[in-house]
Amino acid sequence: MKQSKQNTPCGVQPPQEWLDTTASIADQLNIRAPSVTMAPAWFMGPNAGQTLPNGRVLVNPKALKLPDDARRYVLAHEIGHVTRWHGKAAFLAFAALVLLYAVNPALCGLVGWTYILAVLAPYGLGDRAEFQADATAADVLGSPYAVIRAQREVIRVMGASVTPQRKRRWERLRAMAQAQTEREQRSISHGQGSEPSGDGAAGE
Ligand SMILES: [Zn+2]
Repeated sequence: MKQSKQNTPCGVQPPQEWLDTTASIADQLNIRAPSVTMAPAWFMGPNAGQTLPNGRVLVNPKALKLPDDARRYVLAHEIGHVTRWHGKAAFLAFAALVLLYAVNPALCGLVGWTYILAVLAPYGLGDRAEFQADATAADVLGSPYAVIRAQREVIRVMGASVTPQRKRRWERLRAMAQAQTEREQRSISHGQGSEPSGDGAAGE
C-alpha cells in the first residue's frame, strides 16, 4: 500500500482503486459517478466516508487501509446517500432553520432544537437515511449480510464503536435478508426447479 506521508488536504484525489470502485458501482446502478475526494481525518471523525450537499463523496485517509469489500461497501453506502439526495435534504432542513431564525429567533430555537434532538437525530432523517444508504449498499454487494460484515470491518479499522442505532439497523438488514431468502425459496418451489434468475422476484 502506497501512502504519502504528507497531510491530506481537501480536494485531493483518492488512490486509483477508489476511483475504479466508484466507477464500477455507478455502472452497476446506472448513474453518473459522483466526484470522490480525500478529506482530512480531523474533519471526518470516525466516518470512513461522508457525502456533501453538492453530492461530492469525501473519504477519510484512515479508510485507505480498508480491504476491497469494505471499500466497495463504503462507496456504495455514500453513493446511496447521493442518489437519494440526503445531503441536500439535510442541507435544506438546516437552511429552513436559519431562515426561521431570521424571522423569529426564539421560535427557531424552540422548533429547531426540539426537532433536531427529538426527531431528526435519533429516529428521523439520520437513522432512516442511513438505512436507505445501507439498502443501496445491499443491492450493490448482493446481500444485506455482506453489508453487516463490511460495516464490522469498517468499525474495526476506523476504531469506532457499535452504537444502538447501528444495532437497530443490523436487525432491519437481517430482516431484509430473511425476506429475500424467503422470496427466493418461494420462487424456487413455484418455478420449474431450475436456478432462480435473481432479478425476477426483485422487480427492480
Ligand atoms: Zn451514511
